[in-house]
Amino acid sequence: MTGDLVPIAFDLPGEIERPRSRGRGGANRSVPIDHARPPWLKVRLPSGPAYEELRRLMRAKSLNTVCDEARCPTIGEGGGAGTATFMILGETCSRSCGFCAVATGRPGTVDHDEPRRVAEAVARMGLRHAVVTSVNRDELPDGGASLFAMTIQEIRLASPGTTVEVLIPDFQGDPGALDVVLAARPEILDHNVETVARLYPRVRPQARYARSLEVLRRAKAGAPDRLCKSGIMLGLGETRDEVVETMADIAAQGTDVLTIGQYLRPGPLHLPIERYWTPDEFDALRVEGAALGFRHVESGPLVRSSYHAERVLAAAPHARTAERDGA
Ligand code: SF4
Repeated sequence: MTGDLVPIAFDLPGEIERPRSRGRGGANRSVPIDHARPPWLKVRLPSGPAYEELRRLMRAKSLNTVCDEARCPTIGEGGGAGTATFMILGETCSRSCGFCAVATGRPGTVDHDEPRRVAEAVARMGLRHAVVTSVNRDELPDGGASLFAMTIQEIRLASPGTTVEVLIPDFQGDPGALDVVLAARPEILDHNVETVARLYPRVRPQARYARSLEVLRRAKAGAPDRLCKSGIMLGLGETRDEVVETMADIAAQGTDVLTIGQYLRPGPLHLPIERYWTPDEFDALRVEGAALGFRHVESGPLVRSSYHAERVLAAAPHARTAERDGA
């Protein structure tokens, strides 16, 4: 899954979860209360020339962006900041994470021309940094790893100066699939842990906490000169102790960068928001992350997986240099 995209969802306008009743079908009920979202989560609707150009180009090339598929609340920032996130391997996911806006079902056939079209779009937009992610494709022998590698290679050919980040699924723990992606040498290898171990059965029923940690460990061991990154979202019922424990587990795998954001519900059928963490709490976790040894931590209510990618690269310039040397 890549959608491990996760921290990229937002709740429907005017929807917020009241305390849930477990009696008589009361679970997961939502009640429209427009004013209930805390002020630090008010976001502008996407607009502006960069956003419109991004959408037009995506439609023309039959490409998907995470912005659209996952309803990213920071959608307006992508193109304008010289970055954009492309979702390859279709719009339908073989998994059913409770927080994700991407449709679950039987994925279609693999479009082997997609990497070329992604690279064309990256070049046309003149992106400084491209993020490539995908739905989960558990039915494919390599989980879609070869299409990730092809996409990285095509972007390199079309835009040699563009840095590439891949937000990958767990490939069901297949080390060979991960190696295929690492061999294409993306500047940043991102795999999101998403939530604390206790909540996995409810939040990521087809994923495994230990397996995701192992993906991070193998990624760093296999490409120590690349940046390895992960992300978690808050608001699904985790405790602070559990969050810090998860951060420590991720750091122990050698992961360089961590993103922490607020879970926002994509729609009434998705997992409810149990709590809004405050900006001060996010700030405290950033400090905690630095103490745990991360090179860079982005922590805030609206932080998403590919948030401020340029800032992340600036915090670890060796990754960019290594790519140029190794390309
Ligand atoms: S449902 Fe699929 S695309 Fe969404 S987060 Fe889960 S694995 Fe990723």
